[in-house]
Amino acid sequence: MSSTVPDLASLHALDPAQQPSYPDRSAVDSAVARLRTAPPLVFAGECDDLKGKIAAVARGEAFLLQGGDCAETFEGVTADNVRNKLRVLLQMAVVLTYAASVPVVKVGRIAGQYAKPRSSDFETRDGVTLPAYRGDAVNGFDFTPESRVPDPQRLVDVYNSSAATLNLVRAFVTGGYADLRQVHTWNTDFVRESAVGQQYEQMASEIERALTFMKAIGADPDEFHRVDFHSSHEALVLEYEHALTRIDSRTQTPYDVSAHFVWIGERTRQLDGAHVELLSHIKNPIGVKLGPSTTPDDALALAAKLNPDNEAGRLTFITRFGAGKIRDGLPPLIEKVTAEGVQVAWICDPMHGNTFEASSGYKTRRFGDVIEEVQGFFDVHRSLGTWPGGLHVELTGDDVTECVGGGEDLTDLDLAHRYESVCDPRLNRVQSLELAFLVADMLRQ
Ligand code: PEP
Ligand code: MN
Repeated sequence: MSSTVPDLASLHALDPAQQPSYPDRSAVDSAVARLRTAPPLVFAGECDDLKGKIAAVARGEAFLLQGGDCAETFEGVTADNVRNKLRVLLQMAVVLTYAASVPVVKVGRIAGQYAKPRSSDFETRDGVTLPAYRGDAVNGFDFTPESRVPDPQRLVDVYNSSAATLNLVRAFVTGGYADLRQVHTWNTDFVRESAVGQQYEQMASEIERALTFMKAIGADPDEFHRVDFHSSHEALVLEYEHALTRIDSRTQTPYDVSAHFVWIGERTRQLDGAHVELLSHIKNPIGVKLGPSTTPDDALALAAKLNPDNEAGRLTFITRFGAGKIRDGLPPLIEKVTAEGVQVAWICDPMHGNTFEASSGYKTRRFGDVIEEVQGFFDVHRSLGTWPGGLHVELTGDDVTECVGGGEDLTDLDLAHRYESVCDPRLNRVQSLELAFLVADMLRQ
């Protein structure tokens, strides 16, 4: 691994996909200069710890749970919002750990997930065409010409919002909120009333009894009182990720200190592209999204470029085929990657291959398709003797109505009630817990 990082100009010379077109380059330069002097959001040593945990996933000894918003917003940086997301992830993790008896590596799509790739550069509403919303990192969600102009100052706002979020997350996970004795209090009213909420209550009571027993015999390890939680986002805007790439003083090697884990999206994974180039130089654990057009040779070439030393834990393939394509599309990738001895953790994103527009006009996903893709992922891995290493989901801790189906049986008509995502539809709290119980069953089989 080289200890140098290509400069920003040479990355731009690779004609990177999905970048903002800033009207004023000098404003970009001053935002980047500000970011270059900002303190790291995460430490290199923390990234190494996560890499070690993902190595256990690659070996089949742990399960990775990665989840959060499709797109975080600056407005969403509130104590309630961050706590709610953390809470649903902690609940899911405890379900998976307890019901399936596997260690769960917890990673949030949080504290940096502000930039979005778009399939079209423009959006038209009522005959008016404006630049597409590319996430709060780039421009505003409001559908006005002013708001849609890319503003580089927003990159500094991403840094500040990420710092505030991470500060809160760190306080929650070490300051008592993530204590396993809180397992009951994580289940708040609206969830408790649902069938899955009751299933959770029962499990929480069993855990509580076990904890009381452990305490009575004098065992009260640190692990009961805190959890390890990690941040992640798509590394999309090169200015931001480059400015936060720093040489670690311990190892003299580069880390992207904007998050513990960063991934390359389906639209920016070109082998000779700028995103693959930049991420090939950092030492963090990284992911690549692989959609249905990926060939086995693409996967091998990405692994060779991004993980030339074949280090376990360095590279995660996040597959997002769609419920109808995974059973045929995934086996050739796994077979070739496995036959070549390539070390990788395989994670299932059952969201991005299953998006469609409802008759009401909302972008949505069917809960049944999400489950079907996860089941396909498990079945394929089981039949090939490989490890279904984890789940990558878009979810929220709130009672939103963005995905249809699930135990509450949300319909197209329900979508209008509480559709709050500024980008893709997320599982709500009940749907997320249902998914966790179903996946725990799959893991047990
Ligand atoms: C996402 O994760 O929000 C996303 C855009 O995914 P993909 O790159 O897989 O389309
Ligand atoms: Mn998304």
